[in-house]
Amino acid sequence: MSPELEEKLCKDFPSLFSGRDKPITESLMSFGCECLDGWYGIIRSFCWIAKDSDIVFTQIKEKYGGLRLYYFGGDDRIAGACRMAEEMSYKTCEVCGCPGAPSKGGWIMTRCESCRAT
Ligand SMILES: [Zn+2]
Repeated sequence: MSPELEEKLCKDFPSLFSGRDKPITESLMSFGCECLDGWYGIIRSFCWIAKDSDIVFTQIKEKYGGLRLYYFGGDDRIAGACRMAEEMSYKTCEVCGCPGAPSKGGWIMTRCESCRAT
């Protein structure tokens, strides 16, 4: 993810991103959000839901075409929001945020038609 967008998330939701300063044996957040900018809105939406909870991200990444949010803490409400974020990512182009779908076969990437063509 672009450093500017990443900074915005860390600035707006400092407690959620407090794992960023931890060693990699405790948190993988020092690597940043390991996905493209198209999912920024999804991650941000999740952060709004989770901001008053006790959760701390340990890893944010793309896997098999979908967004994965890993964290400590939380409850059923947060787990539900996490599930929703993951589902939304399969319908959202990871590059630009437009409606998209996972590719079929090969390396699975969720893209809109125009991003898939380039
Ligand atoms: Zn796109």
